Amino acid sequence: MTIGSMENVEVFNSEGKGRGLKATKEFWAADVIFAEPAYAAVVFDSLVTVVCHTCFKRQEKLHRCGQCKFAHYCDRTCQKDAWLDHKKECSALKRHGKAPNENIRLAARIMWRVEREGSGLTEGCLVSVDDLQNHVEHFGEEEQKELRVDVDTFLQYWPPQSQTFSMQYISHIFGVINCNGFTLSDQRGLQAVGVGIFPNLGLVNHDCWPNCTVIFNNGSHEAVKSMFHTQMRIELRALGKISEGEELTVSYIDFLSVSEERRQQLKQQYYFDCTCEHCQKGLKDDLFLGVKEDPKPSQEAVKEMIQFSKDTLEKIHKARSEGLYHEVVRLCREALQKQEPVFADTNLYTLRMLSVVSEVLSYLQAFDEASHYARRMVDGYMKLYHPNNAQLGMAVMRAGLTNWHAGHIEVGHGMICKAYAILLVTHGPSHPITKDLEAMRVQTEMELRMFRQNEFMYHKMREAALNNQPMQVMAEPSMEPAPALFHKKP
Ligand SMILES: [Zn+2]
Ligand SMILES: [Zn+2]
Ligand SMILES: [Zn+2]
Repeated sequence: MTIGSMENVEVFNSEGKGRGLKATKEFWAADVIFAEPAYAAVVFDSLVTVVCHTCFKRQEKLHRCGQCKFAHYCDRTCQKDAWLDHKKECSALKRHGKAPNENIRLAARIMWRVEREGSGLTEGCLVSVDDLQNHVEHFGEEEQKELRVDVDTFLQYWPPQSQTFSMQYISHIFGVINCNGFTLSDQRGLQAVGVGIFPNLGLVNHDCWPNCTVIFNNGSHEAVKSMFHTQMRIELRALGKISEGEELTVSYIDFLSVSEERRQQLKQQYYFDCTCEHCQKGLKDDLFLGVKEDPKPSQEAVKEMIQFSKDTLEKIHKARSEGLYHEVVRLCREALQKQEPVFADTNLYTLRMLSVVSEVLSYLQAFDEASHYARRMVDGYMKLYHPNNAQLGMAVMRAGLTNWHAGHIEVGHGMICKAYAILLVTHGPSHPITKDLEAMRVQTEMELRMFRQNEFMYHKMREAALNNQPMQVMAEPSMEPAPALFHKKP
């Protein structure tokens, strides 16, 4: 697969949705339909000194651009690769004195590229930046105000010797960023570190139950020969069989909300009414709202429990943002106990509690308790998500790690295998997370064999290993367990 080759897809008019992309040949699960480099991309303001501005990997030690002292790179290769995009930015930053925010920096990078290459189609793109949707006409009063501030700041930053663009064009670019921005993550896929524009991806319409997924790959230049270096890119990957002529879709949002809430979110952030099959028929809504069957709780009891759960989630959110993790655990335990006789295990309120409590307990290294909650969470998720959903894969991976750390080697190994199978489809074999999982799969397989031969010796060995070397500590729980794919203001 050459990056930027678009021979497998075709732009067409999708009934009721405007432009879309369809497959020009048959695809199977895990096939890469296309890979696309960023047209322009920037690192988030808060991470400019810890993430490489070319490949978006998080690194211990980065080299600073000697000129602007703002841009940071892994090494000479990344710095050299950046120069074409950074040259004008570098002198603008020096002139401006202080770096403007990420939105302004991205808009300027897009416009320097337009200045360099013209506004027509660039190589490997099926659509030009000019032709991407901006939805500025749908902006509310607050968004209009923000747009005006952005345009003002942009004009102060934009060097007088660069090409002059009309106010309308500058607004268009900010609109494009607002509805086509894609989140770039670090090499472990755990943290959102930047935002980029990928024009071809912008043509792929949304479906809550899509046939494709999109994944960011930071690329690699670890190989000695530059011929084998890979570039940072997104990949559109098939989740199952796709027939020739079928429309390609991705989900712009996480699936785990009732259809009405998903539709609201899509309307508010992307300005369209979702007419996908899952929304129209409300598929899975009954599971999302599931209540116990026997004995069935009264409607009044369900209503009360929903309110109680909402209030508790708010308290949890607050405690979590203040780093009061023991309080988070206490709140979750209490809520789960109260929900038990009312909600089924696929109920979203129960699943949200299970997700938070298992993550926080793992962080606190209370792996045994965490592992039981994580198992319940995975059982629920399996009934709700598409079997090849990337979020499901990541959740199963975390649950598998927790169970492994808790010494539940059989369950842990099983989950790690399951996660590995999902990530082979959604991330591909060369992605660093998939490679990590492969290593864990081999390790847990070996431990499992030892466990089956001699359980006593296995526990002895684990104890010794734990005493000598504390288990790898889980990352501190973040407000967002996994970065959302598409970059949107909440
Ligand atoms: Zn780099
Ligand atoms: Zn510089
Ligand atoms: Zn939908």
